[in-house]
Amino acid sequence: MNLRNREELFTEASNTRFDVAIVGAGINGASLYHELCGRGYKVVLLDKGDFACGTSQASAMMVWGGLLYLRNFDIKAVVEFSLSRDRMIERLDGRVRKQSFRYIPDSNGRNHWLTLSAFYLYWILSSLRREQPSLQRSFPESNLINHDEHNLGGILFEEGMLNSSDCRFVLDWITKHSGEGQVALNHTSVVDGAYSKKDKCWRLDLRDQLTGEESHARAACVVNCAGVWADRVNDQFGIESPYKHVFSKGVFAGIKKAAGHEVPLIFELGELDDTYLCLPWGPVSLLGPTETAVATPEEGFTPEQGDVEYLLHHANRRLAAPVAASDITMLRTGIRPLVVDRSYDADEYPLDLSRRFQLVEDGGKPWVSTYGGKITGCAQFARKVADALAKRAGVPKLNGAHANGALGQVETESFPGMPEAVPSIDWCVRNEACCTLDDYLRRRTNISQWTSREGLGEDNEHLPQIERLAKRLYPGQAAADKAVRDYVQRVEQTFDRLTGRQIQRNGTAKN
Ligand SMILES: Cc1cc2nc3c(=O)[nH]c(=O)nc-3n(C[C@H](O)[C@H](O)[C@H](O)COP(=O)(O)OP(=O)(O)OC[C@H]3O[C@@H](n4cnc5c(N)ncnc54)[C@H](O)[C@@H]3O)c2cc1C
Repeated sequence: MNLRNREELFTEASNTRFDVAIVGAGINGASLYHELCGRGYKVVLLDKGDFACGTSQASAMMVWGGLLYLRNFDIKAVVEFSLSRDRMIERLDGRVRKQSFRYIPDSNGRNHWLTLSAFYLYWILSSLRREQPSLQRSFPESNLINHDEHNLGGILFEEGMLNSSDCRFVLDWITKHSGEGQVALNHTSVVDGAYSKKDKCWRLDLRDQLTGEESHARAACVVNCAGVWADRVNDQFGIESPYKHVFSKGVFAGIKKAAGHEVPLIFELGELDDTYLCLPWGPVSLLGPTETAVATPEEGFTPEQGDVEYLLHHANRRLAAPVAASDITMLRTGIRPLVVDRSYDADEYPLDLSRRFQLVEDGGKPWVSTYGGKITGCAQFARKVADALAKRAGVPKLNGAHANGALGQVETESFPGMPEAVPSIDWCVRNEACCTLDDYLRRRTNISQWTSREGLGEDNEHLPQIERLAKRLYPGQAAADKAVRDYVQRVEQTFDRLTGRQIQRNGTAKN
């Protein structure tokens, strides 16, 4: 994509009258950008942080039919998510794969024959397109499980899974498109704007979060894909809607993957009819997630002591080997945007709320607000929004397909502790709009997720490599040094604090 550099992209953004501006480049914004570019629209995609820096970097990466929604008899959601899952497995070969999962009933939980019947219903609702579920008394991961709590065997069933990571999945939708009239700008906030009836056009005021510079973009229509910030963006522009979001925080902890852990395990929790995952991902296993209602996005994106305690409590109840705070190698936190009516003020357990997506077209101005949604179903989401836009007066008809940029061969390099080579920093800067340490360590690669202490290593032993990356990313030694200092400080203040690692004065972390 970024074959034009950032400066050129800003120039193009302010000189073009786009058909559509998308605010927010999580999975919803990115898949819509792909769909609209493919249909020949001129599109600008804007994110205040990096692409996929919100909830779309914190998911379980499952492409699934919504098994849990059977507990509320939400058959429609299950049928729709199952269809989306199966299409994604079929059509996104290389990005989404089939994946067997093992559901581990709780010894004191629901009647397990009833549970098995629910799996059959789940399978039938997906028109038998997946492997038939089966109850197995013994299986390879048996030795990982605490049999005092789980002695009923496991139910093997089939779902889908993202192949690399949710961030890469988002990025792949975006980097396909780099033709004229296709502009994707990360680290660019939409701070204000207004609609001109005379010009039939929105003016969006933009701020480059990296330099502080102001600019603007113009578009016939705006689609608000700002996830948990969508209500704020609507308020900013005076857009009213019959819906709003409520927020459910979800935290995963990663530990070193146990030998032989290949199939994801889903433990029945008993309490609140929820589940607890132990999900192999590269060299780690993800444990979680939590499900906690929070009042604001700010409150939700930082893991807290209570989250870690919950995750450890269940790990030690469900798994055979004890897990301590110091075994945690990474934490990932996101907030589920859940759509409710504007008048909603109840206090339900978040899992009881629908995970559907909803789009609302403003009655007066060419503005579409989007709510909810999941990674599973993103292509269906994008098609529905694009169809709605196509019907709208004020959004031009097709301009003809634009040329797409070819990224060519990915250049790779190694990073200590990573199981395989990662895309090189130079390549990511040139081709993928990689701008900050976090962009590279967290979203262009899995370094901060797969190596300890967000890539720093247990004793800061990876600091020299991180300093080298910073030199490539920031203008001048002082800026690079500051970026590294800030990164280390953040890891110490969040990750080390929560996992009981104490920092000695020389800067090394000790358990
Ligand atoms: C713990 C957890 C596990 C999950 N597991 C799964 C799973 O296994 N499978 C699944 O299908 N779904 C899963 N989900 C749900 C899924 O991850 C989310 O529904 C999805 O990522 C939301 O995407 P989004 O694009 O709506 O929001 P986001 O990814 O949050 O994107 C919104 C973007 O808008 C940007 N933005 C906001 N305001 C502005 C502004 N003013 N200007 C510019 N940009 C702005 C933000 O920076 C952000 O990048 C999970 C969610 C959680 C929390």
